[in-house]
Amino acid sequence: MCKHKKFKTTEQGFSGPVGPHRRQNRLAHGGVCYRDVCLTCGSERLTNVNGCSSERSGWGPSGEVREAAEAAEAAASVAAAAKRKADTLRSAAEREAEALEAEARRLLAAVPTMRAPDGHWAKLDEKGNFISSVGAPVAALPIEFFEVAEVAVRAVLAAEAARARV
Ligand SMILES: [Zn+2]
Repeated sequence: MCKHKKFKTTEQGFSGPVGPHRRQNRLAHGGVCYRDVCLTCGSERLTNVNGCSSERSGWGPSGEVREAAEAAEAAASVAAAAKRKADTLRSAAEREAEALEAEARRLLAAVPTMRAPDGHWAKLDEKGNFISSVGAPVAALPIEFFEVAEVAVRAVLAAEAARARV
């Protein structure tokens, strides 16, 4: 720890109390203020002097250091607010994607697997891809199958697009 043995003193006008709250001395206000800056660590100490009354602050960060710390704190709080907002937007997008995925799963489950007496079959897989047995007479499938399948595939695509935005 620096003991602030060597410091440079400059004089400035009084600009407000410098003492700890309970140890302020109103008689010391209104005169001059001496600013001691430690040559080793850069800390500063302020002393208000008016006539034979004085009031002294403890050693602390210099005004420049304090301002830099305050600026850094303000920047951090802006960044934190931006992050909170991004998280909120992200969780909204996440919820939308989850809802659309649930809807897509429900619609996919509603698409029937078509089976012909000769063993051929056709259906949508769990990702919404149309699959069938080799040589299945796809053209013979009822239009209703394709209508239900199309709704499910559209839901899958919407869910994928929503997920890509998360
Ligand atoms: Zn020092």
